Amino acid sequence: MSTEELDEGLDRIWAAMKSCIDRGLTGSGILPGGLKVRRRAGMIHDKLQDEWRSNKINPLLANDWLSVYAMAVNEENAAGGRVVTSPTNGAAGVVPATIRYYLHFHEDADHHGIRDYLLTAAAIGGIIKFNASISGAEVGCQGEVGSASAMAAAGLAAVMGGTPEQIENAAEIALEHHLGMTCDPIAGLVQVPCIERNALGAVKAVTAASLAIKGDGQHFVPLDACIETMRQTGVDMHDKYKETSTGGLAVNVVEC
Ligand code: SF4
Repeated sequence: MSTEELDEGLDRIWAAMKSCIDRGLTGSGILPGGLKVRRRAGMIHDKLQDEWRSNKINPLLANDWLSVYAMAVNEENAAGGRVVTSPTNGAAGVVPATIRYYLHFHEDADHHGIRDYLLTAAAIGGIIKFNASISGAEVGCQGEVGSASAMAAAGLAAVMGGTPEQIENAAEIALEHHLGMTCDPIAGLVQVPCIERNALGAVKAVTAASLAIKGDGQHFVPLDACIETMRQTGVDMHDKYKETSTGGLAVNVVEC
């Protein structure tokens, strides 16, 4: 593939992610499936814009925008809209949310940065998939939202000027703090806890990148060890916590 073809492909991916966020931010009503989960991204987005216009100080500004972008994508996924699998549909909100955050909050952000971001994120996702899994059915949500968070942390560290060591550190921090996370979607629908979980995955990714960039790349747990730990934890995880909806939140929340 030529550089031009590669760049075109990356730009297409970002365009699809961006239009998914935009659609998600205008959505309203109840998500299909019977749980009667309300779409919230549009409503939160309106509130954030009001706050912005009134110059109100919001100490959690970046977190709120990250969350609303991620939730917009995951509500689109839950509603059967078009998302970019990154690395799965259930975890599709983390990478787009953190890229949109980068465009929103980083002064020097541009389309070259987005390409570097996506390639770095893809490299980390590939390493995790090759050595462990990105599947909730195989290793629980640590493999889905955990992997997405590691990908996003690495991408962000790269565009913040991180060295390879700092980028690896960012991915490791994000993945490490998702280890053991189960997959327990209520009623088998990718809605609760999945939609909010992507918001939190995005917040952790940004924090991980920021911590890594402030260090020198040296750290205690190598990414490879963290990925292997995730694999082993996934193997040991009971089946009821692996996308079967027979354990966890899926059996402790009354569906009415
Ligand atoms: S809880 Fe399960 S279905 Fe939901 S995002 Fe995580 S891995 Fe995917």
